Amino acid sequence: MTASALSKAIGPRVQTFLIESDEIGTIGVGEATIPTIHWFNQLTGLNHNEFMRETKATYKLGIEFENWARPGHVYLHPFGRYGDTNDSLPFHHRWIRARQEGLDDGIEQYSLTTLVARAGKFAFPASDPNSPLATLGYAFHFDASLYARYLRKHSEARGVRRFEGKVIKIDQHPETGFVTSLRTDKGDQLDADLFIDCSGLRGVLIGGVLGSAFEDWSHWLPCDRALAVPTERTGPPVPYTRSEALAAGWQWRIPLQHRNGNGYVYSSKFISDDEAASVLLNNLDGKPLADPRPIRFTAGRRKRSWDKNVVAIGLSGGFLEPLESTSIHLIQSAIAKLLSLFPTRQCDPYTAEQFNRVLSQEFEAVRDFLVLHYHSTTGKNEPMWEYCRSMPLPEALVYKEEHFKRSGRIVLAPEELFKDGSWLAVLTGQGHIPGDYNPLLDSVSSKDNFVYLRRTKDLLRATCQRLPSHESHIRAITEAPPVGVA
Ligand SMILES: Cc1cc2nc3c(=O)[nH]c(=O)nc-3n(C[C@H](O)[C@H](O)[C@H](O)COP(=O)(O)OP(=O)(O)OC[C@H]3O[C@@H](n4cnc5c(N)ncnc54)[C@H](O)[C@@H]3O)c2cc1C
Repeated sequence: MTASALSKAIGPRVQTFLIESDEIGTIGVGEATIPTIHWFNQLTGLNHNEFMRETKATYKLGIEFENWARPGHVYLHPFGRYGDTNDSLPFHHRWIRARQEGLDDGIEQYSLTTLVARAGKFAFPASDPNSPLATLGYAFHFDASLYARYLRKHSEARGVRRFEGKVIKIDQHPETGFVTSLRTDKGDQLDADLFIDCSGLRGVLIGGVLGSAFEDWSHWLPCDRALAVPTERTGPPVPYTRSEALAAGWQWRIPLQHRNGNGYVYSSKFISDDEAASVLLNNLDGKPLADPRPIRFTAGRRKRSWDKNVVAIGLSGGFLEPLESTSIHLIQSAIAKLLSLFPTRQCDPYTAEQFNRVLSQEFEAVRDFLVLHYHSTTGKNEPMWEYCRSMPLPEALVYKEEHFKRSGRIVLAPEELFKDGSWLAVLTGQGHIPGDYNPLLDSVSSKDNFVYLRRTKDLLRATCQRLPSHESHIRAITEAPPVGVA
């Protein structure tokens, strides 16, 4: 992704080298994205249908959380907005007020994206702001390895030079400590001015050479292992990711065109690897296509992702578990920040500091969003959930929850990835009940508020009914002629 974006944004004025090792390989997981992916695909100039075909993608309207808030409970975090498009008042405050006055509806009935997801349908957001379809939002499920291969092809076509081999020696300037060159086991030596460490959890340059410290957040996000296993598809692909809370973590189910991705993300403090494998294999919907693949990680981030002339992007810079599919976004966001802060050869430490500050803020806000899922639960008596319910929380999360409880307001910091709709979905989904609403709404009578909500609900339902199935959208892509063929 980084090589692809650099080659597109900067072009041939800067020579980009890409070093990858087939022997080491990639982490090989990462199948779910969030809507910010559209920005990146546009930046890199991908053709939509070709991208869908090359990466075996399906559409994703949100994430369904099963047994998270409490056993038997299900809710969806949709990517679209709540309400219809023409409301001048803050929509969810209408809903809070009506609930206080006896309305029985959940917030999901006011999300077109949720209705469409549950119906197994799909539509692109409308550009007409007056259409209810303008409230829709979507991302993709895809095979990340195929995405990487596809982007590599584009990058090489734009002049990126790829070297196959393992980096075995790193040279540094004797006075400044700047990295000056990399040598591979194939005998190549690459000199450069700026080094982007995309070496995954290894952090070959940022950790191995520069020793940038890792801030461990596993006391808030206790899951530290995963088992991933592909299965045969058993039915039409659902247009959302499924996340089912289990005793010591959670299981993902992700439909792609050719298979389903599955995995158990768990905490090794609360379950053994063998038991986790057995739980996962007994909880699959289709026939496994391979043995479960183990992956180990620690939640957290580098204190300094950019140090001297090395910028860590991807897992080398930090990892937040995949519950809200944020890692690919965080990579793309780091790329965007690198482009806007692109350095001179001197790599001014102020430039690096700004990169580190804004990336840290983004990481912390995502971390808090994930922690919300873990700690706001009831009726789950397994030790991991009891631990999460009683753990001390990050201060910013306590502040957010308190605001919501007091006034129904969602307070966001400037660098937050997840906006009001996402926080609303997960706060209400995890059982937080707002105690009040925005008093601006008192300018509307109670009756008018109920009528407005009823009309909105009917409009969204009727809109959903006339949409085509998700499967038909995927078929249209797979059966369309390839790009360049009339
Ligand atoms: C269980 C799990 C599930 C995930 N699910 C999602 C998801 O649904 N959505 C999402 O957005 N993200 C997800 N992620 C994160 C996602 O997989 C990664 O962010 C993404 O794959 C990018 O990884 P990377 O490029 O940083 O590292 P890697 O994929 O590990 O790539 C590292 C690269 O560096 C090379 N390399 C390493 N050392 C050397 C060396 N010495 N010499 C030469 N080359 C070297 C390797 O060959 C490889 O090419 C998930 C992660 C995990 C662990």
